[in-house]
Amino acid sequence: MSVDFDAVIIGAGFGGMYMLHRLRQKGFTARVIEAGKGVGGTWYWNRYPGARCDVESVQYSYQFSPELEQEWEWSERYATQPEILRYANHVADRFDLRRDMQFETRVTAATFDEAANLWRVETDKNDKIAARFVITAMGCLSSPNTPKISGLEDFEGPTYHTGNWPHEGVDFTGKTVGVIGTGSSAIQSIPIMAEQAKHLTVFQRTANYTVPAHNKPLDPTYVRQIKASYPEMRRRAKTKPAGIDFTINTASAVETPEADRAREFQSRWDYGGLGFMASFGDLLLNDDSNKLAADFVRTKVREVVKDPKTAEALVPKNIIGCKRLCVDTGYWQTFNRPNVTLVDISDAPIERITATGLRAKGQDYRFDALVLATGFDAMTGALLKVDFRGRGGVSLKEKWNEGPKTYLGLTVVGFPNLFMITGPGSPSVLTNMLPSIEQHVDFIADCLEALRAKGKNVIEAEPAAQEAWVGHVGDVSNITLRSTCSSWYVGANIPGKPRVFMPYIGGLPAYIQACETVVRNDYEGFALA
Ligand code: NAP
Repeated sequence: MSVDFDAVIIGAGFGGMYMLHRLRQKGFTARVIEAGKGVGGTWYWNRYPGARCDVESVQYSYQFSPELEQEWEWSERYATQPEILRYANHVADRFDLRRDMQFETRVTAATFDEAANLWRVETDKNDKIAARFVITAMGCLSSPNTPKISGLEDFEGPTYHTGNWPHEGVDFTGKTVGVIGTGSSAIQSIPIMAEQAKHLTVFQRTANYTVPAHNKPLDPTYVRQIKASYPEMRRRAKTKPAGIDFTINTASAVETPEADRAREFQSRWDYGGLGFMASFGDLLLNDDSNKLAADFVRTKVREVVKDPKTAEALVPKNIIGCKRLCVDTGYWQTFNRPNVTLVDISDAPIERITATGLRAKGQDYRFDALVLATGFDAMTGALLKVDFRGRGGVSLKEKWNEGPKTYLGLTVVGFPNLFMITGPGSPSVLTNMLPSIEQHVDFIADCLEALRAKGKNVIEAEPAAQEAWVGHVGDVSNITLRSTCSSWYVGANIPGKPRVFMPYIGGLPAYIQACETVVRNDYEGFALA
């Protein structure tokens, strides 16, 4: 039975683009199916004001092409969404990727044909495509979560979700605006929206930890140094758990003398960014150490926010690092503005959305526009929107009824020839996504090449290997404080979602080693046919 393509790749973000490039290089045919009108994935959809990456631009970039590394010029320490989208478009043009991409099309279903050993892929444009392999590159945070607050459809003004922002932008000048949520997207957008809006009311259920970005234009001398030593920096980054080249202090916070500890926290704070969590080695392992870091940040809130009641509401109460640390520019300062009000809804949920605003704690709030900064059905949301059917017609949804189970975060038992880029059970969201994506893509491309060389056309994870990996992912997550609290990492933000720590927290180096061992042992844990 003939195939239309060796592979169908779902998604034209950074994962899908590089996957296509690698498969072409190895002589495979592939078609990328993308819901949006263009490439960029996360950076195509998340166009809310202030959106930028929390990993430094020189590190949040592809490394597969030294020429690309040398020719692209990042302008700021942390790149804005428009700049990252320009980069994605540049990559698509430079490697002539668009001719194998089909835009404005959603994959709706994919069924494994056991007789023919191929996938039958269907789209909302009535395409029916036969492909030997299906590779998902749909992103971990790409299925926006719209909470089921009663009355949402009654609101008469416009409602915007940060994860699906209008492409033409939104002008809030002279408008009153309500924002629900205080996660990373809210923390980036609130300062910008506050500058525009007549009045901004922020509804906060959980106060969040944030560290200043200290964003700035990139110094040309620094860029020259980076460009002269890119391979060394990339190599160093791969030895770090998060795949980011920053200095990790392995000392224990509680065991460090107070003055030294304060100096370390302060210097990380002054430098800015996610490296704050690397101030000490046990912040996510030891309650007391975690509390020391948390208290340091809590003090900063109180120093910045002038109104004591607002400051106390903004002080985060849970452990630091439970949720992903946010990186901001002027977030707490925004609450000193006369046109910004914080409404603490931690003790009572929003009662309902009304025609003119919302009702919370017995009080009516009025606004012209509503912004939902309410996050995503992370890691599994986008995958389960496609009706994947593996052996015996079993659906992925059924298979993952009690939470996602994968081998290496890449494959699932009963779903032969289906690969996931940064799937649940891989380090993905706990790391710099770009090197993690490249590692997955290289693994998959090499695997397809190895199958071709062996004259095989089916690869499937073995149940024992998957069980062992799922067990390992669970075991390492239990060591850290992260698994003890509610976040999207454990699906706690989506009512009814099974509580499972989804990403692999063992770190990028351990993960790379695990994958390399599997390859060295001739694809150990996989059945080839
Ligand atoms: P998020 O972190 O999940 O935050 C969602 C916010 O909405 C939380 O404050 C949540 O409150 C609130 N919320 C949800 N449902 C609610 C309800 N029914 N009533 C009241 N409040 C509700 O989502 P996000 O800010 O979009 O960020 C998601 C992830 O995307 C981040 O963790 C990060 O990994 C990534 N991201 C990265 C960047 C960057 O690179 N700079 C920027 C944006 C996002 P609770 O906390 O109480 O649930």
